Parts: sequence; structure tokens; C-alpha cells
Amino acid sequence: MAEEHTPLTVALTQLKLASKKLGLDSGMHKMLSQPKRSIIVSIDIRMDNGSVGVYNGMRVQHWDARGPFKGGIRYYPNITLDEVTALAMLMTWKCAIANIPFGGAKGGVCVDSKKLSKHELERLTRRYVSLIVDYLGPHRDIPAPDMYTDAQTMAWIMDTYSQLKGYSIPESVTGKPVEIGGSWGRTEATGRGVIHCVKQAAENNGLKLKNAAVAIQGFGNVGYHAAVAAQEIGCIVVAVSDSTGGIYCPDGLTPKDVLAHKEKTLSVQNYKGCRNVTNEELLELQCDVLIPAALENQITCKNADKIKAKMVAEAANGPTTPEADKVLFEKEICLIPDILANSGGVTVSYFEWVQNLTREQWPLEKVNRKLENKMTTAFNDVVALAEKEESDMRTGALMLGVGRVANAIKVLGLWP
Ligand code: GLU
Repeated sequence: MAEEHTPLTVALTQLKLASKKLGLDSGMHKMLSQPKRSIIVSIDIRMDNGSVGVYNGMRVQHWDARGPFKGGIRYYPNITLDEVTALAMLMTWKCAIANIPFGGAKGGVCVDSKKLSKHELERLTRRYVSLIVDYLGPHRDIPAPDMYTDAQTMAWIMDTYSQLKGYSIPESVTGKPVEIGGSWGRTEATGRGVIHCVKQAAENNGLKLKNAAVAIQGFGNVGYHAAVAAQEIGCIVVAVSDSTGGIYCPDGLTPKDVLAHKEKTLSVQNYKGCRNVTNEELLELQCDVLIPAALENQITCKNADKIKAKMVAEAANGPTTPEADKVLFEKEICLIPDILANSGGVTVSYFEWVQNLTREQWPLEKVNRKLENKMTTAFNDVVALAEKEESDMRTGALMLGVGRVANAIKVLGLWP
């Protein structure tokens, strides 16, 4: 079976399926297939050695019928407009499934952030914001962290936006440090949210999580916090990986210690008592729960039938191709789709925005309680629809997200 997928072809295939099942007319389907606005910019900065660096940047705003555009900014070499468009589309469905009043957007800069100094990254971030500033704003488009951007990047974004407007506007960006209006629990939110979904799914499927083996591909912010949250509820984290490769230990490892090792050696590999594995091998390990928390297109028709996990929780965006989806469904592996599983991040981003707008700061317990409530409701909404449609959870999630957005567009009408 030929599998020539880009993230955009996958996203469009998924949209087509949901539109068909929802009975949307072709006009609506066409509207939802296209982003409302795509901005491409050239980011020119002074490098530390005095030379000039030129980087391509973009921001894609997909749909804002349910509220302002919302979505992360990723720094990644070779990132394409197609990929950012697909990710923006996923954000639209994700916010609708989480039932938060946002539309979907995504930003990207083609850069290997590891090769830039902190000062260069700051200049790059500020220059990028200055180029798209007219399209940003707390009621227009609110950025957040994504791959290779973090709370510090968001602080620079807030400061640049505020400086250009002439006053402090914390609600212009989420995922900021708490010192400047960030929310407690935002950093951990995506990883924690994934585990809330795993808990719900395990209950539904009669899977015991006490001592269940969990393998996690990716040890960035999302993968790490998913590992910590999994351990908190009694699971055994048997494998983790980063871009250099992975480690496997059937007796379990302690995420905090592995992180300390990674900070020292710049890799999770060669950790005491563990066997080194490749990122591909990690996916096929004996485990109960597999959490892809790295890149797109990791579970494909090439390896889907070798997956041994009983449950796959997609912490990354788009890690499974449509063909692989079918294989996992036939194998009766429970798949919790990205637009549901990783919606904890944007959900707490919403809490952060509300706190900023009301000039409040909520305690961590309140944030975590509200996150669990939101995740549980979204999970149950998706399962109810999937059961009604006798479909997999991805189809249920897509139908819920796309359906809510289509309804909003219908009610708003087309102007003029
Ligand atoms: N980048 C995250 C995502 O893909 C978070 C987006 C946000 O908080 O706006 O869901």
C-alpha cells in the first residue's frame, strides 16, 4: 500500500471523512479545507559573529468561528507551510473538542534552535513577532509554545508585543513564565492531560493501570511530563527516547533521574541499567500503553502490525497515518487521537488567558482540577459520539470537532 503522506494530506483525508459522516455540503467542506489566512515572512537577524541570518517564518490561521485563533509556534528545520497548515487545522478541531472558545492557528520558523545562541534566538523571536504583529492580539490570535519553543520564548513574545503596543498585555500569549502572568500547571498540562485520557480509556476498556508498562517516544516537555504523570498513577515507565535514540528497562525507570542524565549528557541514551534502543524499536516494545510524544508519521503501515501495546495515546500531533489507524483498529488497539489526547496544553492555555483577562492567578490545585474536568468531559463526548457512529475514537473526535466548527460557521453566516 503506497503511503505518500504529508501532514496536510493526512489532515485533509481526516476532514473529508468527518465531513462525509456529518453530511456537510461541499461548500462547507471546501471552506474548512482552507486556512483563512497564511502569512509568510523573512526573518533577518544579526548573528553573534556579526553576519546576517535569514530565516523563513510563517503563521497560519485556519478558522476563528468559535473565538480568536490559538496555537503554538514551533522552531524546526525544514518546516513547511503545508505542515504548519495541517497543524493549524488540527488546532481548530482540538479547541472545539475541548469546548474552549478558540479557533486554530500554528506558527513555524525554519531554524535549528540548538544551533543558535540564546541572544540569537531572542532576536529571531522578536523580529518574527514584529513581522506578524498586526495579526496577533489577545482577541485576534494568541501564540503558545510548541516544539523547541518554551516559556522563555513566550516571555519575549509578550514583551515584543507589549512594547510595540505601548503597554503590558499578558493575555497576548500563553505558556509564559508564572512571574509575568503564566498559569501554574501550564508546563505540565499537555503531559498530564494525556494521562487523564489514558485513565479514562483504561476504565472503559478494563485495563489495570497499576504496574502497567508505559513506553514514551519523545522526552521533551510533553513526553517528560506524561512520564511523570504516568508514574504518579502507578504505571511503570519502561522506555523513553529523544532525538538521539531511546532506552528500555522492563523494571521501570525514574523520569526525573533520566532527565538529570539527559541534562548532563544531552541524551537519554546510555542510562544506567537500561538497554539502548532506536526510536523505531521503542514503538514495537512489549508494553501496555504506548505514547508517541515526538514527531508526525511515526506509526505507519510499515510498523503498525508490530505494535504490541494495548493502548496508544497520541501526545504528538499526527503520529499515526490513516493506513496505520486502520491496522490498529483491526487489532483492537485502543487509540486516543491527538486532537483529544494532547488538548490539555491548550486547555490550560485557555485558563491562563482567562486569568490574565480577569487579572487573577489561580492556585495549581484549581488549575489541575479544572483540567481534569475538561479532559474527562471531552473524552466522554468523543466516546459517546464514536459509540453512536460505531467508529474509532479518531472519527468520533473529528466529527465532534469539525461538527462544532461547522455549526458555528452556519450560525454566523457568510458576510457580506
Ligand atoms: N502547541 C500546543 C498544541 O499543539 C499548545 C497550543 C496552545 O496552547 O495554544 O496543542
